[in-house]
Amino acid sequence: MVKFNVIEEDSSTNARLGILEINGKEVKTPVLWLGCLLKSKPHPWDHFKVETVLVNAYEIIEKRMSIDSIHEYLNVNGIVMMDSGGFQLMKKNIPVTPELLLDIYKRAEPDIGVVLDHPFNPMDLESRFERWKNTISNTEFMLENSHNIALMPVIHGYTIDDVKKACKEIKEITYPKMVGIGSLVPIVRYMKTSVLSELNGINTIEFMAKVISIVREEFPDTFLHVFGVGSVSTMHLMFSLGVDSVDSMSWRMKAAYGALQLPSIGDRFISPKNGRRKFKEYKLLKECNCPICNGKSLKERKNALDNSKQGTFYKRAIHNAFVFKCEEKAFHNAFEESFLKDFITKRLKKTRYFKVLKNFTSEEEPSSF
Ligand SMILES: [Zn+2]
Repeated sequence: MVKFNVIEEDSSTNARLGILEINGKEVKTPVLWLGCLLKSKPHPWDHFKVETVLVNAYEIIEKRMSIDSIHEYLNVNGIVMMDSGGFQLMKKNIPVTPELLLDIYKRAEPDIGVVLDHPFNPMDLESRFERWKNTISNTEFMLENSHNIALMPVIHGYTIDDVKKACKEIKEITYPKMVGIGSLVPIVRYMKTSVLSELNGINTIEFMAKVISIVREEFPDTFLHVFGVGSVSTMHLMFSLGVDSVDSMSWRMKAAYGALQLPSIGDRFISPKNGRRKFKEYKLLKECNCPICNGKSLKERKNALDNSKQGTFYKRAIHNAFVFKCEEKAFHNAFEESFLKDFITKRLKKTRYFKVLKNFTSEEEPSSF
């Protein structure tokens, strides 16, 4: 039902290329899943080919929806992963049982269902032991009763020991074909100086890299997913560290606050406010082949994507989703053409990730690292 094969490992970074095969559908990895809402558009696959979509059971539970086939409901042909919504359910204090979630998965038939996990609360460190106990007991129950659904267990940990213990306990239940790492990126994003550094004596980005290397070591042939990546640069970092798969809803969230994505640079605004830099990236915008920009003059493109104009969210979101997916393909291309290290250097050199990445890449080749 699920097959994952690594086809090539990069010699200069920890990245690897592979093929994930599931329910007769195939996708090249590392891969980005576009996080989408069930009830709100845009749905990028209405505009261009999208092979991997992530949705959240939280929406089904909260809105009391009943979905018989997620592929039909969304009118999507690609691979659909459904997250359990553990994080959102915790925030809203909505109780959900693994039985209910399994019922939802059995009816909606996503290609991958994520095990009901209980993400940790950074404000209450001690509770993490109890929360992990619940996650592992859900994992056991759901795997035993999954029938035909491909389930992805999720690892959580605030310390290296937590993570090692979590891997061990998952192995006692099963040797998974797929495994996720939960709330790692959001933790790093929101807890910059934080609890994690105090607990581990290393900065949060180093911790993130370390967690990934431990899970890769514990499950070397397993398809490794990291949940909740915010930006294109975080995606590139994850891929370089050996992660096979990430998901992001940022294409949509960034569009909602007016930001435009373009290859190799951070957020830009056609009409910047609050002292933000003036939009100058005309060359990059001119080169965009997204369904919104295609066939338009530069002036028309600017108009369509302008954050100061009413009704541009939808178009910006499609453009952003397309750029995210193009960057995934650019990563594959750099890997296959053997210039991955230079590609990553260019993409990450202005970010806080760069220093950390250097420690995880090979020094053999003379390069700008
Ligand atoms: Zn575009």
